[in-house]
Amino acid sequence: MSSKKGISRRQFVASAVWTAVAAEIAPTIASAALAPGLGANGGPGGQEAGAGQASRIPPVSPALPQNRVKLLAEPFPLENVRLLEGPFLDAAKVNLGYLLSLPEDRLVHNFRVNAGLPSTAQPLGGWEAPEVELRGHFTGHYLSACGLGYASLGEEQLKQRGDAIVADLAKCQQGLGNGYLSAFPTSFFDRLKAGLGVWAPFYTLHKIMAGCLDMYTYCHNNQALAIAEGMADWTGKWAAGLDDNVMQRALKTEWGGMNESLYNLYAITGNKEYFATGRRFEKPSFFGPLAAHRDELKGLHVNTHIPEVIGAARLYELTGDPYYHEVANYFWHEVTSERSYATGGTSNGEGWDTDPGDMSKALSLWSEECCCEYNTLKLTRQLYSWSADPRYMDYYERTLFNARMGTQDAAGMKMYYTPMQTGFWRFFNSRFNSFWCCTGTGAEEFSKLSDSIYFHNRSDVFVNLFIPSQVRWPEKGLTIRQETRFPDREETAFLIQAAQPFDGAINIRVPSWIGEGASVQLNEQPLPAFSNGGSYLQIRRKWANGDRFIVKLPMTLRTEALLGDPTQRAAMYGPLVLAGRLGTQGLTKQMQYDHDQGPTDLAPPRAAPEGSSEIALAPGQDLRSIGWLKPVEGQPVTFETVGQKTPVTLIPFYRVIGERYAIYWKLARSGRGFEGV
Ligand SMILES: [Zn+2]
Repeated sequence: MSSKKGISRRQFVASAVWTAVAAEIAPTIASAALAPGLGANGGPGGQEAGAGQASRIPPVSPALPQNRVKLLAEPFPLENVRLLEGPFLDAAKVNLGYLLSLPEDRLVHNFRVNAGLPSTAQPLGGWEAPEVELRGHFTGHYLSACGLGYASLGEEQLKQRGDAIVADLAKCQQGLGNGYLSAFPTSFFDRLKAGLGVWAPFYTLHKIMAGCLDMYTYCHNNQALAIAEGMADWTGKWAAGLDDNVMQRALKTEWGGMNESLYNLYAITGNKEYFATGRRFEKPSFFGPLAAHRDELKGLHVNTHIPEVIGAARLYELTGDPYYHEVANYFWHEVTSERSYATGGTSNGEGWDTDPGDMSKALSLWSEECCCEYNTLKLTRQLYSWSADPRYMDYYERTLFNARMGTQDAAGMKMYYTPMQTGFWRFFNSRFNSFWCCTGTGAEEFSKLSDSIYFHNRSDVFVNLFIPSQVRWPEKGLTIRQETRFPDREETAFLIQAAQPFDGAINIRVPSWIGEGASVQLNEQPLPAFSNGGSYLQIRRKWANGDRFIVKLPMTLRTEALLGDPTQRAAMYGPLVLAGRLGTQGLTKQMQYDHDQGPTDLAPPRAAPEGSSEIALAPGQDLRSIGWLKPVEGQPVTFETVGQKTPVTLIPFYRVIGERYAIYWKLARSGRGFEGV
C-alpha cells in the first residue's frame, strides 16, 4: 500500500510442451498451449462455454455473460477441498481465531458514523482509526475472509459474522441514499477529482466491493450483491462526470482492483454498465508497454499495479482480447523472473526501483510487501488456469511456502514487509491498532490456503501442491485424500475413494526442483515410468475405490543467485528458501510487534540488525558450490554451515519466527573477494 527464479522467462516460454508419462500406461503427450482459446476481439457477451464461471459464482443463468476464454484448468470449489492435519490447517485455524477476535461493532463503527447512524463502539486504531483516510478498507478484507473462510473451513461463525456486517453496511448504504458506501465522506472523491491530495479512496471502495462479492459468491448473501451493485452504480455516475484526462489523472492514485470487481459484477449480473465502468479504470500508459513486451516498471509502486493487471487478466477471460493476455502474461513473467527474490517475493520499499534483472542493492528492511505476494499468487492462478502449465505452480509453491507461510504468528498477527537484509526479523501487527493493507490481504490468504491444491478440466484432475488435504468431486463420485509430511518427508500418498470407478487421469505435478530418484508406486507396485521436472506425471486408468499411490519427490540442495549479483546467493532445498538462524540476542517483544496504541509502525527499528551472512568458500569451491552446507543428521530439512568461523544452522525460512535471520549469503574465497568474477 502506498502512503504516500527459478527458470528464466525465456526457458519458460520456449518449451510449450510437457511430457506426461502415464501408468497402466497409455503414454500421453499433452500440449500446453500458452495462449489457449483466443476468441474474437471486441466486446463482452460471448456465449462460448465458459469453464471457469461455475466454480466461482453460484448458479449462473445461461443468459449471463461467460468467459470467452476456455479455461484448461479450473479450481475445485473451495467447499469441496478440506485441509487435513498439518501446518496449513494449523495456520488456517490460527487465522480463524484472529478473525473471530475482532468485534463486529468496531468493524462497522466508522461506516455508521459516516452514514449518520448511532454507534457506541470503540473505534479501531491504525489504518482504521476515525481520522485515517483509508478507514473501512479492512472491513472489506474481513468480509472476503469471512466468505473464503466459510467456504474453505465450513466454519458457520464466519458466515454469521459476514452476514451481520453486510446487514449493517446495507443500513449505512441506505442511510446515504445514493448507492455510495464507505467509512469516509464523498468529499474524498471530490478531492480526487480536483487533483488534490487524498490517500486512496477507490482502493478502499474496491476492498468493500470485493468483500461484498465474496460474501455473495461463497455465502450466497444477496444483500451483499445488492450493496456491490449500488456501489458500482455510484462509481459509474462519478466516472461519467469526468473526461478521460481527468479520469487518467485520478487513476494515478492507487485504486486497487476496481476494474476486476466491476468485471466480476458484470459477469454475475449481466449488466453491461458495470463492464463499461470497469473499462474506465484502465491506464493505457501502463498497459501499452506491457502489451508490447517492454519492461517500463522501474519507478512504479508495486502493489498499485499488480491488481490492475489482475483486472486485465479478468478482461481477457471475458473478451478473449489477446491484448490483455499479453499485458498479464508479459507482466507476470517479467515480475517473477526479473524482479523477484528467491522467496518469490517482489518489491523493495514498495517499489520497483531498478532495471530488470538487477536486485543487487535491493536487500533491505522494507523488502517484499506482503500484499504483493498475495496479489501475484492471484494472478498466477489466472495464468495457470488458461494453460494448465504446471510451471506456473512451481512459482505458486515457492511463493506460498517462502513468502506467505511464516507471515503470520501464533496469534494470527500478520506482517507488512519481509526484510531481506541480514540480521533483521519478522515484525507483526498489533491486534487492534495496525490494520495495514497487508493485515487485510493476510486475513484473506490464510482463509483460503486450500484454493490451489487441486484443479480439474472436467475429465481429469490436477494435483498441484503437496499439502495434507482432501478433494471431493461429487459429479464423478470421486474423493482423493492426500497424506503427506512434505517438506519433511519426500513421499506423498494419495488414497482414492470412488463411489463408482473413475475413468480419468490424475495428473501429479512434478516440480522443477525435482532431484534424482523420483518414483511412483501404485497399489504397492513400482511403476516403470516417471516424468520430467516442470511437467505432470499423468496416471490414467479406471480408478477403483481403495486405490492408493505414493509419489516420491526427492529434493536437492542448491543455491540461487540474487538477480544481478552472483556472489550473493540464497540456499534452497526443493522449493524452500533456507534461512540462517542468527539468534534472538537483544530482540524484545516490542521490537517484533507494532504498538498497541499511538501511531502505527510498519517495520522494526532500523538501527538494530545483527549477525553476519558471509561465507568463506574453501579452495576448489566456486560460486555455485553448496559444499559450505551439510544436512544435520536426524533433523529433517535442517542444515549447518561447514568450515566457517561461526557455524550457522539453516531451516526453512517460513519456520523462522521470533529470531534474527539471514536469507542471502555473501560468498567470498577465504581472505579474498571475487574480484574479476
Ligand atoms: Zn500491503
